[in-house]
This record gives sequence, C-alpha cells and structure tokens, in this order.
Amino acid sequence: MGIDGSLALAPDRAPGDGPDPGSPGPERHDELRRSLTDWLRANLTPEVVAAGQAGMVSTETVEILRAWNRVLADAGWAAISWPAEYGGRDASVAEQLAFHEVMTGFKAPGPVNVIGVANVAPAIMAVGTAEQKDRYLAPMLRGDEIWCQGMSEPDSGSDLASLRTTALADGGEFVINGQKTWNSLGQYADWCQLYARTDPTAPKHKGISCLLVDMRSPGVEARPLRTMTGEAAFSELFFSDVRVPATALLGPIHEGWRVAMTTLSHERAGVARLHLGLTARFNDLLAEARQSGVEATSVERDRLAQLYAFISCMRWMTTRELEAVGRGGQPSPAMGSLAKLMWARATQELADLAVSLLGSGGLEGAWTSNFIAAPGVSIAGGTSDINRNIVAEHGLGLPR
Ligand SMILES: Cc1cc2nc3c(=O)[nH]c(=O)nc-3n(C[C@H](O)[C@H](O)[C@H](O)COP(=O)(O)OP(=O)(O)OC[C@H]3O[C@@H](n4cnc5c(N)ncnc54)[C@H](O)[C@@H]3O)c2cc1C
Repeated sequence: MGIDGSLALAPDRAPGDGPDPGSPGPERHDELRRSLTDWLRANLTPEVVAAGQAGMVSTETVEILRAWNRVLADAGWAAISWPAEYGGRDASVAEQLAFHEVMTGFKAPGPVNVIGVANVAPAIMAVGTAEQKDRYLAPMLRGDEIWCQGMSEPDSGSDLASLRTTALADGGEFVINGQKTWNSLGQYADWCQLYARTDPTAPKHKGISCLLVDMRSPGVEARPLRTMTGEAAFSELFFSDVRVPATALLGPIHEGWRVAMTTLSHERAGVARLHLGLTARFNDLLAEARQSGVEATSVERDRLAQLYAFISCMRWMTTRELEAVGRGGQPSPAMGSLAKLMWARATQELADLAVSLLGSGGLEGAWTSNFIAAPGVSIAGGTSDINRNIVAEHGLGLPR
C-alpha cells in the first residue's frame, strides 16, 4: 500500500456528490443532505471556514463565529436535534449524523455556543421551568448568549461529587463562594451552568444543586488560562459572595447530581460523530503527504493502515449502535465511553503520525495545534482511566 489514494476513508467526497455508496445504514436522509448542501453553497464563506479552523482564539474569530451562529439559527440549522418548538428540527440521531457529515465535508463550523446548545439546553428542556425555557433557549440558539459549564474544581475533577463550591440560601437568594477551573469558553461566557453545594452537611452526591449564573453578577471573575497551544480556550472562575435569585435554581434543590447526569447523557449523537472529524483529518494528512511527495517508510505505512482500520471500526461500531437504537433497542451501557476512548487514542496517533510523515510540515498550520492539543483529549470530558473503568464495570461486568 502506498500513499496513492487507495487509502482515503469515506466520506472523502465532494459536498453534494449525493449518496455515498460506502456509507452504512438504510437511512441516508438524502433530502436533508441536499437541502443543507444547497444552503451551505449559498451561505458559507471562506472567512467563516477560516474562523472555524482557528477556533475561539481571539475576539475577532469569536465575533465571526457568533455572526455565523445567527445565520445558522435563522435558517434552522443551529441545533437540528432540538424540538421544533424551540427552533430545532426534531432530528433523529441518524439525521444528526447526516447533518454532521455534510457540515464536516464543507469544513463548516457549528454553533459557537456549543456547550449551551449541546449540554445546557437539554438539561433546561428536561428540568427547567417554563420561564427558564422562555428566557434562555432562544438567545442560546442564536449565540447571542454564550454559556460555560462550571463543574471541575482544583481538587475535584473525575470525582465531581467531591466539589466544594457552596451556594447557601440567604433571604430568597443563594450566595455563592468557591473556585471552578478548566471552564471552556469561560472568559467569553455570559452565563454559567454551575454546580455548587447547597447542603454541606449531606453525603457528597446529595446536597449539590445546579444554578444558572449570570457571569456579570458582582463577585464573578473569569481568569483566562493559556495552554501550550498558545490559546486561552478556557478559564478559571472565582465566585466571591455572588448573590443570585432563587429562580436561578435549575431542577429541584439538592438534586444537582441528577441534573449533571441528564446534562452528560445527551451526548449520544456527539459521540456517534467523533469518527467524522478524524476521517476528515486522516484524509487531509494523506492528501498533504501525497502533495509533498513523501516516501512513507514501511513502519509509517503500517501505522497508517492500522489507523485506517481503527477509525473504520469506530465508524461501524457507532453506526451499528445507532441503527439498533433506531430500531427500538437499548443503548449499550458503555458505548459512549468506548467511543471516547477510541477517539482519544486515534486523535493522538494521527497527530503523531502527521509529524512522522510530514516532518516539520506536521508542525505547521492546523497540524501544530492538533499536535499540541492532542494530549488533552484523553482528559477532557472524562479521562481515559475513568472511561476504562466504565467499560470494565458496565460493559464487561467486571467488579469495581
Ligand atoms: C480541553 C478540556 C476542556 C475542559 N472543559 C471543562 C469545562 O468546560 N468545564 C469543566 O467543569 N471542566 C472542564 N474540563 C476539566 C475536565 O473535566 C477534568 O480535567 C477531568 O474531569 C479530570 O479531572 P482532573 O483534571 O481534576 O484530574 P483528576 O480527577 O485529579 O485525575 C488525575 C489522574 O488520576 C486519574 N484518576 C482519577 N480518578 C481515577 C479512578 N477512579 N480510577 C483510575 N484513575 C483515576 C485520572 O485519569 C488522571 O489521570 C476540561 C478539561 C480539558 C482538558
């Protein structure tokens, strides 16, 4: 096998090519694909694509992506999984996957308010009051208000239930004190979905509540954290005697653990599409290696073939799961953790292989941040150790 095109992973197709015969599943949702393809051809600009590739790295790219978010929302493409009554399209997981395939093919960025749209909104829809739904969902969808999540603390990460930030009731308000860290988009956020201890005397999984906190409240400070990529993609947040009204409570008092589990369980489509970004980058790597006339060593060819097989397995595994769920089956208990584990491993191997194949070229442009950010993917959203524990206990039935 050489770097000769024979290895490109589908979907490596020009947008609008129509159905990909290699794509699995009976439901191709061609109408959705066609309509999104036409819309992207008419609306997506190179400036938006470039801002999407750069990420939330400067006020300038944030504003370009916010404007794009509004365009997406006005056309009904910002959150197709949301119910139509809130501005979505009631899309099934398979339709969401079709949507993401087309978006990835165009390198089109999704909504800037990714945490709000994908994580906070499902929790508000599930346990929020009518007033909270009216107040928060529309500006969230348009990216007019950006959200962050305040879970991790300096001494509380994997063991979220050990968090120490408090929110104590006082005269019809809550008074918040404590520190959060690693808050993605924290410095840009208008609102924070915050987890704090409302009953410090209760056992650790109990006595936590979820609060919707206005980041402009007196006593809130967001300090950007610059990582080795050079970007400040997240912040640490400090809360000093921050007063929020009782209406800030999301879900029942002291039931924040249940809200957190609801928030974290809405990631099935997100997990199912992890292979798409990998596929796009794998194909970019092959194209660049071909263009620069690289002569791959036999070891590199072997690694490429293994990675190709690995990403293909991810794709088939998640597709099989989606089809089973689509036919009314139960989701496999450890599927999310398994896909996240595989994604982290493949992302790191791809970044490493790019440097091996392209030499210094593998440390230029998008490959640079790809390489430097790769170690973080096995920490964010649950570490690989924690995910291995979940696969062992819930997938394989091994003892704790
Ligand atoms: C890119 C990125 C974005 C993030 N965004 C956010 C955000 O928006 N909001 C937010 O609240 N947090 C965010 N985080 C924080 C993230 O959720 C935590 O880093 C993660 O939960 C791990 O917690 P920790 O860093 O405190 O490590 P710890 O939990 O202290 O773990 C330290 C080490 O011990 C291992 N370990 C811990 N417990 C066990 C166990 N039971 N069995 C085996 N090994 C174990 C871990 O795998 C790890 O290697 C983000 C992190 C990253 C990297």
